[in-house]
Amino acid sequence: MEYTNEVLESLKKKNSNEPEFLQAANEVLSTLKPVIDRHPEYKENALLERMTEPERLVSFRVSWMDDNRKVHVNRGYRVQFNGAIGPYKGGLRFHPSVNQSIIKFLGFEQVFKNALTGLPIGGAKGGSDFDPKGKSDAEIMRFCQSFMNELYRHIGQDVDVPAGDIGVGAREIGYLFGQYRKIRNAYEAGVLTGKGLEYGGSLARKEATGYGLLYFMREMLKANNMDISGKTVLISGSGNVAIYACEKAQQYGAKVVAMSDSNGCIYDANGIKLDVIKQIKEVERGRIKEYAERVSGAVYTENVNGSHPIWNIKADIALPCATQNEINLEEAKLLVSNGVKAVGEGANMPTTVEAINYFLEKGVLLAPAKAANAGGVATSALEMSQNSMRYSWTFEEVDEKLDKIMTNIFDACQKAAKEYNLGTNYVAGANIAAFDKVSKAMLAQGLI
Ligand code: NDP
Repeated sequence: MEYTNEVLESLKKKNSNEPEFLQAANEVLSTLKPVIDRHPEYKENALLERMTEPERLVSFRVSWMDDNRKVHVNRGYRVQFNGAIGPYKGGLRFHPSVNQSIIKFLGFEQVFKNALTGLPIGGAKGGSDFDPKGKSDAEIMRFCQSFMNELYRHIGQDVDVPAGDIGVGAREIGYLFGQYRKIRNAYEAGVLTGKGLEYGGSLARKEATGYGLLYFMREMLKANNMDISGKTVLISGSGNVAIYACEKAQQYGAKVVAMSDSNGCIYDANGIKLDVIKQIKEVERGRIKEYAERVSGAVYTENVNGSHPIWNIKADIALPCATQNEINLEEAKLLVSNGVKAVGEGANMPTTVEAINYFLEKGVLLAPAKAANAGGVATSALEMSQNSMRYSWTFEEVDEKLDKIMTNIFDACQKAAKEYNLGTNYVAGANIAAFDKVSKAMLAQGLI
């Protein structure tokens, strides 16, 4: 049997109850055959087996008390997947869907994403099945403190550096950092990224994932003689990534006509008014349907049975920026029949493997998550650099570095695709470029 299939079969047996992790491993391994054929040393050193097994995975109890003095117990996780090229790095997700499979898929992807940034960071991920929706600030604070009471022993600015993800934004990072500082009795600013500007955060970190997605998209379109300006765009989600993807798309002259949250989507033929979205989501922590109540002419459509009506709207570009598996084969078909020309993955693994293959088959340009949403972690690494220099760069300086990093990432994906005659398959290009880097680092460091 083919080496990549052999490893996949064995992974399926060992992790049969982890569908998201298996999906992520399959997506990567299925593109690596040409590299493995060219480098027999990768098989001899069992690199695929080693790369698909985390270096460490911890799961822990998080007990906390709500405002009515009722005690709750959640489960916390941290997976330190691969530290070959730098300290472990990756976000924390607080969402009721979080389990070991989700954390492992995210940690696995993070290894490759971080390698693509060109910066010295290994891959990790963590989080909890805690649901922050509807909780008071005091409840969020008590949960974060309890979470850090265990997490602190596994992290450190040269060991493992968490950041935000779904459900973990500036507020949560603040509470987590405060508790870490209290426990350690030291100001180790580089232990967490996504911090507030008053205590070691970086300018442009908040904008970085969304802006970075558009920088990647700009390069991908340019390489295929297209341009963002004048295009109609759909953006799923209305969180950190979606909001700043929308902002940059609008700056580039695109017309964003739809956004969503986990309940439904809004359509505004005149173009989304981002200040209204920011007010609802960033300030009031409300629901997106309120947009249609405030902006005349806008229409709200509720999700039914897990469907995502946003993908049924006609557009040139789709930017899934909410969560995993939000575009399935049926939805990919709808998008293609409505004329979509490019898809940019702001979220992690938003497109199922069948949908990815369909897009590629139909000649739709696909900017893969590992590459296209790497701007967030890249800017987190720039935050770490500023923390260790005890100095801050201006917004423009950070943004310029981010733009350069995203341009380099696109070039690396394109170069790998070219080298292996893969045309515009940037999904495989990203996997190959990242795999090559991590493999070389692992081989150089011996069997550890
Ligand atoms: P936020 O929590 O800020 O926003 C998430 C958005 O997605 C919200 O609008 C949320 O809706 C929606 N959403 C979440 N879960 C679901 C679901 N199960 N079904 C439908 N909609 C859902 O998260 P981020 O913007 O930070 O993250 C979005 C994606 O981007 C994730 O996949 C994350 O891993 C990825 N990412 C984030 C980075 C970052 O820097 N923040 C970096 C790289 C990737 P609702 O409000 O209803 O929950």
